[in-house]
Amino acid sequence: MSEPESVEYADVVVVGTRCAGSAALIALAKAGRHVIGLDSSRFPSDALSTHLLWPAGVAELQTLGALERVRALGAPPLPIAMAVAVGPQYTVRAPYTPYEGIDYAMCVRRTGLDASLVATAREAGAEIRERSRVSELVWEDGRVAGVRYTDSDNVFREIRAPLTIGADGRSSTVASLVGVRDTPYLHAPSGRNCFYGYWRDNKPEWRETAVMWRVDDLLGTAFPCDDGLVLCLLQPPVGKSPNRVTGGVEEFYRGMIEQIPGLNERLSGCELEGKVRSGLNIASYFRRSAGPGWALAGDAGHFKDPVTAQGIRDAMRYGRLLGEATASLLDHTVALDAQLDAWEQRRRRECMDIFQWTNRQARGEPLTPLELELYRAADDNPDIAVGLIEVYSRLRTPNEVASPARLAKVLAKGVTNPASSRVALAKQIGREIRDGAAEWSERRVSLPDLPAPPSQYATKSVTPVHR
Ligand SMILES: Cc1cc2nc3c(=O)[nH]c(=O)nc-3n(C[C@H](O)[C@H](O)[C@H](O)COP(=O)(O)OP(=O)(O)OC[C@H]3O[C@@H](n4cnc5c(N)ncnc54)[C@H](O)[C@@H]3O)c2cc1C
Repeated sequence: MSEPESVEYADVVVVGTRCAGSAALIALAKAGRHVIGLDSSRFPSDALSTHLLWPAGVAELQTLGALERVRALGAPPLPIAMAVAVGPQYTVRAPYTPYEGIDYAMCVRRTGLDASLVATAREAGAEIRERSRVSELVWEDGRVAGVRYTDSDNVFREIRAPLTIGADGRSSTVASLVGVRDTPYLHAPSGRNCFYGYWRDNKPEWRETAVMWRVDDLLGTAFPCDDGLVLCLLQPPVGKSPNRVTGGVEEFYRGMIEQIPGLNERLSGCELEGKVRSGLNIASYFRRSAGPGWALAGDAGHFKDPVTAQGIRDAMRYGRLLGEATASLLDHTVALDAQLDAWEQRRRRECMDIFQWTNRQARGEPLTPLELELYRAADDNPDIAVGLIEVYSRLRTPNEVASPARLAKVLAKGVTNPASSRVALAKQIGREIRDGAAEWSERRVSLPDLPAPPSQYATKSVTPVHR
């Protein structure tokens, strides 16, 4: 282990400065804290991620003070949500219920979105150092007391701070160094892979609508985004798609589009631009996310399959809440640790329903008879359509929309419908009961104990060269 060339002090050091990291930095800097963000990337830079933001995500940008900057990137507001189930065909189409005054979704490519968040954090007073990779934590008396990193000039440095936030994504270095990365206490491998590409959009009449299609076990989406493009994401079941990137990805991707007539029609005459990208072997999880002097924001601590497009909003929201909750407690170790714990519990409580709902969508199966009945009901009844869309915007929980009473009603209607199979519906009721029981016990899983800090940690004091 080499010694750092310099040691400096900050109130908080944040590792990773995209969605979660920038949000935490903004909240802390606004509260007058001296905060340093370190990121191995150089912005603007892309991330392996599609980027639909439901109204709740757009509202989070507004709260952070980044919305104007993001809107200037030119992505069209998407005031209409549409979901189509094919065979038999049902269409759910509805406007959004406003979330904190925002009644539209938006799809902004990560290069511009992340750079806007970084710029907003800098404007709020945070110092952000790019091309700076963290490789070690500083431990003192069983607490994390800062980080060591290699800067853009390849110089090894140390920053000490009462709080270190890991906002460094799914393969988080901070999560690994505190010993929680490989032991999530809830873990759900996805049944779907992701393949996405950008198309030059020639359909002005569709530029206000985000659409999702379900055909058998295949799921496809078309979301208009910035620069006149439309993002098209396909999520086939894992068993029916390549599990590593091979030469034929584009052909495979185009073949899937042809299996979804509505999507094929949506993209007809549009040109694919650039490469098809893949997100494979994805898993949703909760990791232990807070301990003495440290916390894990964003994907570093909690991840949901992209199928419900919740990650960016939750990374920003709980990054911000973490900053707000801790800004006044950095000089009080006991109170700080208690607040970190409360923040972790809050995120878990507020994200559990959508985590479980997401895991159901990520199964890589055709729509269940019950889901089909819900689509049928929503096709008939605009209130149900609006309610379903409110789940994605986090205005309602999935259980509120698919409550036992509503499911019973939907099922009763299904039983009297000659197009529905009674046997399939009966099997579905059994599965619902089993799933409900499994989710109930999952909600009751308690947080595991924190791993012990490494037995040897760096406590050697070095004369500070900065403030
Ligand atoms: C295929 C796919 C599609 C998705 N689609 C959507 C969608 O449509 N909508 C949605 O809301 N969410 C989507 N998500 C989820 C979304 O991408 C994440 O939830 C979001 O990026 C989390 O942000 P973050 O800030 O936690 O982490 P990240 O965006 O992963 O940022 C982490 C940062 O940490 C930096 N870093 C890592 N290690 C270090 C280190 N050691 N030192 C310094 N810096 C480091 C990285 O350079 C990076 O800049 C998708 C995810 C995937 C995989």
